[in-house]
Amino acid sequence: MCAKGVFLLSTCERCKKELFRYSACNYCGRKICDSCIKSSQRVAKVKKIVICKDCWSNMKKRKQYKNKASIVDVTSAA
Ligand SMILES: [Zn+2]
Ligand SMILES: [Zn+2]
Repeated sequence: MCAKGVFLLSTCERCKKELFRYSACNYCGRKICDSCIKSSQRVAKVKKIVICKDCWSNMKKRKQYKNKASIVDVTSAA
């Protein structure tokens, strides 16, 4: 089975689990489910930064997360 190139809004791009609501990782831009989120923080009234478990293991990205800087500009749907 090859799902490569197939865009499914309702599937987590990290663990392939079905999604009812998703967050987008601000460091790789993937749409991920709640269990793939390592951490999230609110940086402004309407802005939230999300980092997935993969990006968390990347020291560079983790540092940027701690500095409240996002790499990928994504819009999360609730
Ligand atoms: Zn997931
Ligand atoms: Zn990520």
